[in-house]
Amino acid sequence: ANDLMAGKRGLIMGLANDKSIAWGVARALADAGAELAFSYQGDALKKRVDPLAAQLGSDMVLPCDVGSEESIDALFDGIKKRWDNIDFVVHAIGFSDKNELRGRYVDTSRGNFAMSMDISVYSFTAVMQRAEKMMNKGGSAVTLTYYGAEKVMPHYNVMGVAKAALEASVKYLAEDLGKDGIRVNAISAGPIKTLAASGIGDFRYIMKWNEYNSPLRRNVTIDEVGKSALFLLSDLGSGTTGENLHVDAGYHVVGMKAVDAPDM
Ligand code: NAD
Repeated sequence: ANDLMAGKRGLIMGLANDKSIAWGVARALADAGAELAFSYQGDALKKRVDPLAAQLGSDMVLPCDVGSEESIDALFDGIKKRWDNIDFVVHAIGFSDKNELRGRYVDTSRGNFAMSMDISVYSFTAVMQRAEKMMNKGGSAVTLTYYGAEKVMPHYNVMGVAKAALEASVKYLAEDLGKDGIRVNAISAGPIKTLAASGIGDFRYIMKWNEYNSPLRRNVTIDEVGKSALFLLSDLGSGTTGENLHVDAGYHVVGMKAVDAPDM
């Protein structure tokens, strides 16, 4: 434990279960003394999220479907009932029709393209519109992205296009909110076995590939993503905004492995 987040309060969006990246982030923040509120999507998840929040000393568990403006407003109204302001937001939300996370990108439908962009990209901007109004100076927000935004990865398809737009929106948000001392960053996490990831075709193969080819020769954990989020959300990250921090065991720097690499 440390006191990097002592006296700080914030919102975690996207906790589904104890495999969620949001759970690794929430644990790291709570361990550093942060007070947490959680949002969940749909009644089915409430019974999963309630006990996890309780484990971290939180009873602020509020519904929010980021596809609805009213639902996002209701979330922030709910937070305002208890807190006058917040210090951080974690956006760990993405969605696409899993039938289009296999096969070819070129076959993406108009409807799923729009929906994936809405839920996975616009939602972060919509949330920051509300968060800005109640954020303290020194406020900080983090969203989650993936290398499929930068390079073509098998089956990531429309999510790769969405993550590219999300990464661009991080830069624009960083500029807009920087005037108020609010920082906005992304973490590009390596592949981790979660509910959302299980929708991606050949995900196990992608994990193996990353394990063999990353400089650290392994995959990353939700706790490692959590530690990096703690850096970006705490005062340790005070000079960093608009950044895309790769927490991927170094995978993104490798062009090709040597044929005689001793561990291949
Ligand atoms: P997860 O399934 O645990 O979390 C995804 C969350 O998105 C769930 O809590 C789900 O309820 C929420 N969500 C989906 N649609 C929503 C909506 N309309 N309104 C509100 N919430 C909604 O999976 P995860 O892997 O922890 O995903 C978190 C983030 O991390 C996503 O943005 C994902 O793209 C990103 N990411 C994941 C990986 C990976 O390999 N798992 C790698 C890089 C980035």
